[in-house]
Formats: sequence, structure tokens, C-alpha cells
Amino acid sequence: MEAKNLHAVATSERTAELDRLGDEIAELAAHLDAATARLLELIREFDIRGGWNHGFRSCAHWLSYRVGMKLGAGREHVRVARALGSLPRLADALARGELSYSKVRALTRVATSETEERLLAVGRAGTACHVERIVRGWRRVDRLAEARQTAGHHKARALHVYQDEDGMVVIRGRLTPEQGAVVMQALAAAGETLYQRMRAADPPTWPRDVPAGTPSMEQQRADALALLAEAALHHGLDPGASSERYQVVVHVDAAVLADPEAPGQSVLEGGTHVPAETAQRLACDATRVIMRHDPDGRIVEVGARTRTIPPAIRRALHHRDHGCRFPGCGLSFGQGHHIRHWAHGGPTTLSNLAMLCRRHHRAVHEEGYRVERHADGALSFRRPDGRLLPDVPPPPAVPRDPCQVLRMKNEALGLQLHARTACLGWQGERLDVGWAIDVLHPRALRPAPSAT
Ligand SMILES: [Zn+2]
Ligand SMILES: [Zn+2]
Repeated sequence: MEAKNLHAVATSERTAELDRLGDEIAELAAHLDAATARLLELIREFDIRGGWNHGFRSCAHWLSYRVGMKLGAGREHVRVARALGSLPRLADALARGELSYSKVRALTRVATSETEERLLAVGRAGTACHVERIVRGWRRVDRLAEARQTAGHHKARALHVYQDEDGMVVIRGRLTPEQGAVVMQALAAAGETLYQRMRAADPPTWPRDVPAGTPSMEQQRADALALLAEAALHHGLDPGASSERYQVVVHVDAAVLADPEAPGQSVLEGGTHVPAETAQRLACDATRVIMRHDPDGRIVEVGARTRTIPPAIRRALHHRDHGCRFPGCGLSFGQGHHIRHWAHGGPTTLSNLAMLCRRHHRAVHEEGYRVERHADGALSFRRPDGRLLPDVPPPPAVPRDPCQVLRMKNEALGLQLHARTACLGWQGERLDVGWAIDVLHPRALRPAPSAT
């Protein structure tokens, strides 16, 4: 009898101890969720203000470099951070430690300001697994609704062109979003060309002093459309291969290539001037045709077409560098960068080359970043202000007891978090996802109410 009692006491003590441990885990998890809300807020601000936009491809790449997040996790943090910017209720529930980051992550995939309230209730009531399933079903309904909308758009496309009584041609239409995007891009490009022609025609007064005859925005757009039509007819309505459409040919004076300050010019085929730094970047790894001009500009000699980096050296470069060498990038394809430009007499040898992706090639030519190779072959990168950009940034100093610091910070924000803060409303009933979405989703196709 005695022994049995002792055993019961020991068991209940162990249970109480494990309960305490469980409570401590739940409480700390709530603190971490509250802190994650703050982290996402900071990421959102950093992203909006472009804090990463100095040599990094995206905010996620910066996070991966600076914080050591996996790139996928970094992208997800940025996505959730942006979404929470317009979902104050979900943001608030996370900040109060009432909804876990996992649930918020899932809910932000579908929530809009219209549905946020209902989805918050789902998050509060269900387990993380329920929330995942509801969100998956929700997206299916969204996709169906979207497909209906896309089909509707496609059917509704139309362009009306007719001549008015006074002889003017009137154009009115509705385009699908992707057709519209191409048209708007083309109008912008044509507008830009016209703008440059105007500037070239009247350099001293334009655009500082707007002359009386400057066309309005609407007039400029009309001119741009006419230019598009002329250009399309001139090219036999051939949109060309996509690689050709975006091909860039630069004509550059030898002196400019060697020294950006030198007088001379670099011009894109078609007449647009580009900065000498851009010309240097495009020439860094390119197919090169040397043309010699006489003093009157006539071509007197055309050399053979050669690659600035021969195929054998390029293969060796890929093999050695495995992708972009810029700290934190590692993109697996890129361009060969001459550390000392060939136009300055830099040799096309492995020791004078480094692989850089397109984005970072721009960073070193046009944004003031510097690359050096040391005698031991190691590369070092410097920011435009001269500070070294290490391959892996040093970790920040963390206090001896980070949990205590977290608790104190959350308490200072007025948060009273405990083991039951994030408790569910779920009582263990079976989850009927189909029914839940029919009831909750505003675009769900509900059966028409029966006539009875
Ligand atoms: Zn380069
Ligand atoms: Zn890169």
C-alpha cells in the first residue's frame, strides 16, 4: 500500500515537471513569435527603403548573406513581411504571440483585407495542419475564380477604330493584361525615343524651360503610337526572336573604352548614348569587331569577329569560379569580368578574370564596387565607400541569456505572454475543409438556395 502511494506521488511529480517544461516551451515560443513579428516589421521597412539595393539581387539575398537564412526562407520572410503590411489584424495577432509564425505564413498566402478577419478566426480555432489544409482549399477556389476571370478577359478583348465626322481617327479598346503590358511598354519606349529626338533638336532650352509648343502627355502618347505603327510596318510586322529583340550593340570610341573621362562617344545601335562605364561593362565579355575609322568617320578596316574571352579560358573560368564571386551571390551562371579591363591593357588570363552575374557585373562597373585579386589568388570586394565586403559577415554579439532579453523586451512592449497565449479554440472535432471554405470564401460557388 505504502509503496503504491510512493509510486503515485513520484508519477504525479514527474507529470507536473513535464507540464512545467511544456509550459515553458509554449511561453518561449509565444515570445519568439512576438519577436518574429518585430523582425518582419524591420524587414518590411528595410525592403521598402531598398536597404539591400547596393549590390544584392534582392532583400532575400541580403538576408541570406547577412543573417545566414536559407534563400528560400529569406524569400518567404520577405513575402510574409510585405503581406502583413496590408493585413493589420494578422500582424497584430503575431505581434501579441497569439498566432504562430507558421499559421501566419500559411494565412498570408490567401488573405486579403476583405477576408482577413475570417481567416484570423480560422487561425485561432485550428491547428497549424488545419490551417494548411484550409489555405490549400482556399487557393483552389481562388484559382478557379481566376481562371473564370482570365477567360472573361480573353473574351472581352476588343479594339474599336473608326473615323469621326471631323476626319480624326478614334481608338477605344480593352486589352487583356498581358497584351496591355506589351502595348504600354512599347508606348513608353516610343515616347522615350521621341523625347530624345526633341532633346537633341533643342538642347539648350529643353527640358529646363518648357517651350510654349511642348506637347501634352496625351499628345505625346498619340505621337508614340504613330511611331510604333510606322516602325512595325517598316519591319514587316516581324517581332523577331526574343534574343534579338533585346540585343544591344554598342559603338564605342577606343579612347572612351580605355578611359571613361576621355572625349569620344559610346552609342547604342540606334543612336542612344550610354555612359562610358556601361560601354566598358558590355565590352568586358563580348563578341568584338574592331573597326577603324579615318578622321572623317569612314570605316577603313574591319577586323575578324573574336570573343574577348576565348572558349577554352571561359571553360576554365567556369570550372574555377563555379558562378558569381560577389559576396553572398553564388548565381551559377555569369559573365567574365576583366579585373583590369582589356582596354587598359589587362590580359585575358585566369588571374585577371572573375565570374560575375549580370547584376554584380553592373555593380562593379557602374555602381562603384571594387574587386581586387591578391597575390595568393584570393579576391576581395569593396563597397563604394571603400569598406571591405566580407564573404561571410561576422555574427552580431548575442547576450549571454537571449531568452531573458527577449522576455524583457516583450514585457517592455506591454506583452504579458504565458503558456496559454497561443492556445487553440479547436475541441477535437473533425475538420470538413470543403464545408469550411464554402462558408468562409467570398468567391466560393455556393449552390443556389432551393426554392422551398
Ligand atoms: Zn567587367
Ligand atoms: Zn552575382
